[in-house]
Amino acid sequence: MVTRYQLLAAPGPRTWSDAGPDILWRGSGASAALGATLKRDAGWRVQLETAPGTFGDWSRELTRDGVLARFGSWPRPFDRARFRVGRGAPGAVSVLRVVRVAIMRAPTYPGGTDASDVMGALFQRSHPRMVFAGCFVCKGVVGHPGLWSQHAWGRAVDWSAANLPGAEVGPANAACTDWAVRMGRLGQLPGHEVIGRAGNAVVYASTDTEWEVKPGGDSSHLFHTHVSTGAADATGTPPCAA
Ligand SMILES: [Zn+2]
Repeated sequence: MVTRYQLLAAPGPRTWSDAGPDILWRGSGASAALGATLKRDAGWRVQLETAPGTFGDWSRELTRDGVLARFGSWPRPFDRARFRVGRGAPGAVSVLRVVRVAIMRAPTYPGGTDASDVMGALFQRSHPRMVFAGCFVCKGVVGHPGLWSQHAWGRAVDWSAANLPGAEVGPANAACTDWAVRMGRLGQLPGHEVIGRAGNAVVYASTDTEWEVKPGGDSSHLFHTHVSTGAADATGTPPCAA
């Protein structure tokens, strides 16, 4: 299972969007993001969703640290369960922050790494209309003779929009690429390089470019977004070619 979190903070968008600013956060990132939005030291209350659509009572007033301690011990009872933070007198509490948990079943890609499996779960949750298009493949990089693809180590995942109606392919893949790059910038991507689409161009961004988006890459990335998983490229000859 893969567990991530999303945050809605007021002022801001009030609807959930996996591809939007309420991006998926790791536990530590979610706690830091929530804490950063709680400007006041005290006077907060929390309320936990105990069954889908059913919330428990609001807590007594808590400090910021108290809210974060409650968040840390939150039992995360089910997928999309919500953790509310508010202010106000008992009976008149205003909801000001909501954190939602995302509990995802990770795929098990043959020949893939754990990070690739997690990447697949995040792709599936964030861009469910697109489809898996490859993890482990014993191949080289197109156009670079002698250079092995990260796919040859099972350390890359491709997520494709080629299944969608023609007019939707470009925009869908561009949105997926943009999401992955923003996850990278936030330190929330289980990978270090994204290759995909922006507008009508193939682009890439990585830890090497400090996640700045640059033009370049094979034209197949007009139709799919590639993420190289792990902290850095594997180098040399992969076991599949030895
Ligand atoms: Zn790829």
